[in-house]
Amino acid sequence: MDRDIVCSIVVPMYNEEEVIEETYKRLKKVMDETGETYELVFVNDGSRDRSAEIIADLARTDENIRLVDFSRNFGHQIAVTAGLDYSAGQAIVIIDADLQDPPEVIPRMLEKWREGYEVVYGKRIKRHGETVFKKVTAFFYYRILAMLTNDKIPKDTGDFRLIDRKVCDAMTSFNERNRFLRGMISWVGFRQTAVEYVRDERFAGETKYPLKKMLRFAADGIFSFTYKPLKLATYLGFILSISGFIYLLYVLYQALFTDNTVSGWASTIGVNIIFNGITLIILGIIGEYVGRIYEEVKGRPLYIVRQAIGFDKEGQKSAKEVDKPKANNHRGILAEETEEIKEDAGDE
Ligand code: UDP
Ligand code: MG
Repeated sequence: MDRDIVCSIVVPMYNEEEVIEETYKRLKKVMDETGETYELVFVNDGSRDRSAEIIADLARTDENIRLVDFSRNFGHQIAVTAGLDYSAGQAIVIIDADLQDPPEVIPRMLEKWREGYEVVYGKRIKRHGETVFKKVTAFFYYRILAMLTNDKIPKDTGDFRLIDRKVCDAMTSFNERNRFLRGMISWVGFRQTAVEYVRDERFAGETKYPLKKMLRFAADGIFSFTYKPLKLATYLGFILSISGFIYLLYVLYQALFTDNTVSGWASTIGVNIIFNGITLIILGIIGEYVGRIYEEVKGRPLYIVRQAIGFDKEGQKSAKEVDKPKANNHRGILAEETEEIKEDAGDE
């Protein structure tokens, strides 16, 4: 694999036509100033707008641009995964396309990397332009996640981070389908540090993470990283049996020493509802895990690439090389062989 590129920037994008050119300009400016060799790996996650065309056009004039174009929307985490698969740099920075993560932080990350850190994550000290709801749920979510996973996943960090080639190689050997990248990055270890930054407002457009996707993502974070929720069944079982036993003693006492034995319809119904509720919750939790096992067992590729642009140049890792299956590794599929920049790039 080619090691000439110092820094790869992975940019997942989904319907970002309003911002993507500005994002490109800001990234280019920052990276040119560092004086390092770099590549900008844009991953088009099945956008239905002109995002891919815009990047494909820019790629004609800027040889630092790469485009990995998905056949459909596979989701943010998978898009980043593909970006990592296709990156050639010694350091890789993952950044959102909407300029909420300021590119100007990247040089500080590179500095830390030069000091010897292998993971430099961006820690949001402030979040501008996000709803109170999002901030509050995010706050609690990260704390619950920390509780369940023994505090290994850093709090209040997004996916904006720099990782070393070693970390990237370790991560690309993971095959799991339900990807929660920040969890996986903590899991692989290495020397980790943070740089603080203020999270900006979206430059334009609106969030591509509506509540439903956000919940899906939050569930992935928990259910893919810990099976502690399953233990809930055991704990509840214990607590309920003990309380049941105590209640039984009380019932016996009433039956033997008092006259009021038949009343209590309300409490029967009450207890019934509660127990049924608990049973359903536990079944749901087990379902989450069974569903994930099902996804893994199917062993489908993680993503399908319609075309890859900008890779086959001299000294560059070729797009095809990426798709050679690693040992027991069914990852992305490239739908067709892609030569350098194609004339009709992006508008098929
Ligand atoms: N994104 C993506 N695929 C999706 C949803 C989002 O590639 O299915 C990208 C999106 O273009 C952006 C990043 O993931 O670059 C973060 O999304 P967004 O800004 O909408 O999330 P938020 O900042 O609101 O959490
Ligand atoms: Mg955003």
